[in-house]
Amino acid sequence: MKIAIIGGGAAGLMATASALETNPDAEVFLIERNDGLGKKVIISGGGRCNVTTGIHDIKTVLSKYPRGHKFLATAMHSFPPADVYKWFEFHGVPLKTQEDLRCFPVSNDGHDVVGAFEKIFATSAVNILLKTHVTAIAKLGEQFSIILRDQTEPLIVDKVILTTGGQAYRQTGSTGDGYAFAVGLGHSITPLAPSLNAFFSKETWPADISGLSFKKATITANRTGKPNFTGPFLFTHKGVSGPAVFALSSLVAFEKYDHNLPLNITIDLFPDQSHEQLRALLNKKIVGSPNREFVNVISSIIPKSLADIAVNELQLPGKRFSAEVGKKDMVAFLNWCKAVPLTIVGRGAGDEFVTAGGVNLHEVNPVTMESLITPGLFFAGEILDVDGFTGGFNLQASWAAGKLAGKHATM
Ligand SMILES: Cc1cc2nc3c(=O)[nH]c(=O)nc-3n(C[C@H](O)[C@H](O)[C@H](O)COP(=O)(O)OP(=O)(O)OC[C@H]3O[C@@H](n4cnc5c(N)ncnc54)[C@H](O)[C@@H]3O)c2cc1C
Repeated sequence: MKIAIIGGGAAGLMATASALETNPDAEVFLIERNDGLGKKVIISGGGRCNVTTGIHDIKTVLSKYPRGHKFLATAMHSFPPADVYKWFEFHGVPLKTQEDLRCFPVSNDGHDVVGAFEKIFATSAVNILLKTHVTAIAKLGEQFSIILRDQTEPLIVDKVILTTGGQAYRQTGSTGDGYAFAVGLGHSITPLAPSLNAFFSKETWPADISGLSFKKATITANRTGKPNFTGPFLFTHKGVSGPAVFALSSLVAFEKYDHNLPLNITIDLFPDQSHEQLRALLNKKIVGSPNREFVNVISSIIPKSLADIAVNELQLPGKRFSAEVGKKDMVAFLNWCKAVPLTIVGRGAGDEFVTAGGVNLHEVNPVTMESLITPGLFFAGEILDVDGFTGGFNLQASWAAGKLAGKHATM
């Protein structure tokens, strides 16, 4: 049996390893347009590669996928994060789980993750075709004809696994080619949108405190259903970023927002404290330091640089003795802390981590990853209409679906 796996990213690597393990006699072709494997895996997690998550409860893991969680259930149960962790360790990549439950190689080097696959492939008969660009795929009776750029002869195979990824970070080779291949083979593609991106604000003051981070805040978007997320975030030169912002961007991936139709968000800097508790804290500070300037008193509640912004934005009497500040100004400050408003007018174009949307999940068997439309065709990874939050969930989905696809394509 001849099988072609198109795209040597996370899903393609795992599908290939799985195919080799399931059927060592299969003739396996791994086709990658780049001159090396796993380019995106290597740069993921800031080069450290957040391989998977330390969360072991599958229901909780599945809740981290705004799209595709139901579809992923079988794959996730058959190759859960704990098994992915063991798999990499078994293949010579010791992992560690951080306090925030993100799992990384102990070496903090994404190259080691790809290296594990390269070692497996080095001792197998897999044909790795690098710098090989697939331009079209056609069904040829029971088989598939794969057209390769600059090559006169097509590659004829019995099975195809499409793992060409989404269209985020196109410089890594994921340019969305696979969507056209899937359509050509009878599939439909759900609307596509960038996800896991930073927000750009109309307000310019975030630039003044760029880099200031918070361990926990609740960010809420003023759109239908008031989507919100609680987690770490930071101010940037152009707005806000960080895990909570990425997650919220994922929840509003299909919402339009720009200068004409901004996305109004609010940031609760004290999600674990009620207005009353915060008011009591401010009162205590004022009673303790009645003759301190108000800006210095509020600087003991929020960072000084942000306190300066609050004074400026709300026109507070920052220089006045705290005991002399009126109730109206105190309430304005407290309300601001519980809902710092920002007007989001854009996102980092091309900077998003994943593509939301993809091959319609109704057309793929979640148990085998085989097409329900074109037998012999399989999918795995970001090409599918599956995407998760940051935290190792996107790679985890690619490993899990890739393993199933590789197994069932060669059984
Ligand atoms: C900067 C960044 C950081 C990230 N960090 C993390 C993280 O730490 N943890 C996490 O879980 N997720 C992370 N992600 C998301 C995660 O990397 C992806 O979801 C995952 O790599 C998708 O895997 P894939 O195999 O489906 O696609 P890809 O990894 O995109 O692989 C697709 C491959 O197909 C090849 N290809 C495409 N078209 C063709 C063609 N026509 N012919 C031949 N080859 C082709 C491409 O060159 C590419 O190598 C990150 C993403 C980015 C952009």
